[in-house]
Amino acid sequence: MLDAAFFRRWMSATAAAVDREAARLTDLDSAIGDADHGANLQRGFHAVIAVLEKEAPGTPGTVLTVAGRELVSTVGGASGPLYGTLLRRTGKALGDAAEVNLEQLAEALGSGVAAVSQLGGAAAGDKTMLDALLPAVAALGESFEAGAAAADAGALATVPLQARKGRASYLGERSIGHLDPGAASSALLIAALVEAAA
Ligand code: ADP
Ligand code: MG
Repeated sequence: MLDAAFFRRWMSATAAAVDREAARLTDLDSAIGDADHGANLQRGFHAVIAVLEKEAPGTPGTVLTVAGRELVSTVGGASGPLYGTLLRRTGKALGDAAEVNLEQLAEALGSGVAAVSQLGGAAAGDKTMLDALLPAVAALGESFEAGAAAADAGALATVPLQARKGRASYLGERSIGHLDPGAASSALLIAALVEAAA
């Protein structure tokens, strides 16, 4: 079963991955955006770790709602409200249970991802974070590893796509041939679940 400590480890592992990969995320964003994605998420997840230490939320749901709220208030740019919504809605869907299982997490993450799609108006194939998150949710019920592999494959599959949402869409056909930075960071978020479970 997955308790609040598991969800705190998930957020810590994500923050560490974002620190490790910040330069790559910024490089990806410099190709088809404004070169701030790595810095945006570093600022956001450092703040998340600080607020989780300060508030010490005691359930899986509150760990994610507190983290999501912090991302919304600290990350400028499109990705702050989108990732914030993802975590808040996922946390809300987990309710006030002290422990949840993998299936419940997969289902809750599905509602979080649906909320991201609703907020940003993007769907599968638009070359956004959803192209990593949607396949991850579909595979996560099987195992964390399957979810992470699906997120990675989904992120890689954004390379040949033309962006239809967000800043990259301003480039039109010139967005083709580049990996979407938000899909890359979403793959890190899902891979961090595997680390949290280890
Ligand atoms: P900004 O584009 O404001 O500079 P970031 O660079 O932090 O914000 O994040 C860019 C990422 O946000 C994109 O690579 C994409 O994955 C994601 N994104 C942008 N707009 C949307 C949207 N409408 N729906 C889903 N994801 C989006
Ligand atoms: Mg950007």
